[in-house]
Amino acid sequence: MSNARKNAASSAIRTIDVIRRKRDGQEMSPAELTHLVDGYTRGEIPDYQVSAWLMAALIRGLTRAETAALTDAMLRSSEVLDLSPYAGAKVGKHSTGGVGDKTSLIVAPVAAAGGLVVPMISGRGLGHTGGTLDKLESIRGLRVDLSLVHFCEVLGACGCSMIGQTVEFAPADRKFYSLRDATGTVESPYLICASIMSKKLAEGLDALVLDVKTGSGAFMKTEKDAIFLAELMVEAGQRVGRRTVALITDMDQPLGLKIGNALEVEECLDVLHGGGPADLRELCLELAAWMFYLGGRARTIPEGKELADRMLRSGLALEKFRQMVELQGGDPAAIDNHAGLPQATATLDVPSPTSGYVSAIQCENLGTASAILGGGREKKEDSIDPAVGISLHKKLGDRVAAGETLCTLHYNSETRAARARELVESSYQFAPTPPSLPPLVHGVIGSPRR
Ligand code: URA
Repeated sequence: MSNARKNAASSAIRTIDVIRRKRDGQEMSPAELTHLVDGYTRGEIPDYQVSAWLMAALIRGLTRAETAALTDAMLRSSEVLDLSPYAGAKVGKHSTGGVGDKTSLIVAPVAAAGGLVVPMISGRGLGHTGGTLDKLESIRGLRVDLSLVHFCEVLGACGCSMIGQTVEFAPADRKFYSLRDATGTVESPYLICASIMSKKLAEGLDALVLDVKTGSGAFMKTEKDAIFLAELMVEAGQRVGRRTVALITDMDQPLGLKIGNALEVEECLDVLHGGGPADLRELCLELAAWMFYLGGRARTIPEGKELADRMLRSGLALEKFRQMVELQGGDPAAIDNHAGLPQATATLDVPSPTSGYVSAIQCENLGTASAILGGGREKKEDSIDPAVGISLHKKLGDRVAAGETLCTLHYNSETRAARARELVESSYQFAPTPPSLPPLVHGVIGSPRR
């Protein structure tokens, strides 16, 4: 259809009818979804109408056809990158979001060091989960608002780059993402699928590895819901010829030992320097292995894992990260010395009320507590305090004595610390015997064919 005819078709659609029809559980046509996405992206439809539609969509759900049409409409709002001038398979990675979920900062340089090109259009914190962009910005001077030309230059020079949605790149998701964050409409598998896949399909990828979180700190609390979301996204990728797999990974407790922007960067640097917590390192190796496999750099997943491990142990991944930070204007001083990152002015230890084994952690609460400290946004316009957060001393299955420290709050405001402490204290459960521990990777969705 010509643009003129499309505009005419769209102008015959009334936003109020689109809202009513979704409210009443009717199926939207592609033209209606295009009307909504284009109108909102251009600033012609107000926040309050899109908020109402989002809530109706969250409650009523979308059909497979609607989800595909919404993803396509959001994708059409964006420039699509042409990365063909760069040698190497273009392989992306994206997580549905979790607490302490910081793998992108490790996996992208590992994959780039192993010969892949890794463009990452990332997000900010959403709900109780942290965002890659907020974490990166705790490195002094680092810019995540590069122009597409600059982004491609960084990619060409070091093989990985991370930026946010811009007015040219994924502009629809930029607006929908922050509106969903402020209207309690994040947890829809259909909206998550459209948000993630519209960004990923605009990245000009050959292949994509998705990390779909499940558990008390994920948007999808049950494995069944996580599998459903994974299938939606894998289908969206494969529909347009991208090799796509989704790993269903555990979020019944935070990943690693640190939650909060600068604290998470510290922990990523520990892994890139060859240390760091075992669960974080292991998940990064697993994700990178799948990227190497889909990108043709490894014939099997164990071979991919071995390559990823070599990239970490040799320091090559760390050097890629350093290069990316410098090319995006960041101060590399932080890379070899945690003191170069923002530090909170005060800390507070939270003791265990009893002795026993940690048997459950309300992981979402810990994410919310970090946001309350200032590490996340309660309103769209809030700014982030990069220094604050939580470091964990005990995780699931750990033995603890009464009075022993469970975690430490890093804070800059007494009032916020008091609110966060209350939430953290109610987030741990204890048992007299060790609990069974969830696996790090629950399963893989999607064909492993190359
Ligand atoms: N990450 C995204 O990019 N979008 C979502 O909706 C959720 C997580």
